[in-house]
Amino acid sequence: MPEKSYDHKQVEMKWYERWGAEDLYRAEENSARPKFYVLEMLPYPSGALHIGHIRNYAIGDALARYKWMRGFNVLHPMGWDAFGLPAENAAIANQRPPREWTQSNIAKMKATHRRFQFSYDWNREVTTCEPDYYRWNQWFFLKMLERGIAYRKKALVNWCPQCGTVLANEQVVNGCCWRHETTQVEQRALEQWFFRITQYADELLADTAQLEGNWPERVLTMQRNWIGRSEGTEVDFHSEFGPIRVFTTRVDTIYGATCVRAPSRWWMRAPTKIQATSKKTASSPASTRSIHTAASVCPSGWRTSC
Ligand SMILES: [Zn+2]
Repeated sequence: MPEKSYDHKQVEMKWYERWGAEDLYRAEENSARPKFYVLEMLPYPSGALHIGHIRNYAIGDALARYKWMRGFNVLHPMGWDAFGLPAENAAIANQRPPREWTQSNIAKMKATHRRFQFSYDWNREVTTCEPDYYRWNQWFFLKMLERGIAYRKKALVNWCPQCGTVLANEQVVNGCCWRHETTQVEQRALEQWFFRITQYADELLADTAQLEGNWPERVLTMQRNWIGRSEGTEVDFHSEFGPIRVFTTRVDTIYGATCVRAPSRWWMRAPTKIQATSKKTASSPASTRSIHTAASVCPSGWRTSC
């Protein structure tokens, strides 16, 4: 009998075309079946999918297929995390308009993604730099602004002079930018948008109880520590630089306080210019809300008022 070799390209193409034509993974809008939503982190359209993407998306694909086979109406969309300065910088470096650059990357990556044969409903593809997607971000933002949850204030941020953008703490590696390994990250005081997420701390904390038994205790503890609720008292220390507000969980020990240490970002905002003095007096607490001290300052990153 003549040997026939396995032509994987031919076999793959046959099923690629057949599954595509049958629109196999479309989520049904009105279905009596139980719903299940699988969402993986959307890839950033940098130009090519790599083996790391396959590993990552194979996990979501396995879960979605398992749920399909168990009779669920699975919603498994895919899309592109395509909005932001890295895309713009890449376009500048490649001397292409950002829109054209991003769209051509998406087209290339989508063609590869489709060959993976993952179980996506491509009818629900989203591209975050398109108005039909980001109009909803804007809508959410305006709702938060209306309700005082979004606000602006000046704050110190990590700034990469080469990216020309702000970096998250996680993007600073050994004091340098994660993309520019020899570029020192600077601290810059910039007007920033903030979200008052602490407003939801109590609610979040209470709701972690619903996850008990389903989530590992270690993860729940991490979440609770991250929410970081702590009950205590705010105390104003009066100094020649203005009041210094501190938070303590042990206000009963405040009478023993002799020093206040604050990060350099507080001193930057201090109303009076800081001058080092050697004056030192014992604190004379007036009440638990208001304790008077004289101030002296140690000229280091963290300043001390004694
Ligand atoms: Zn950088």
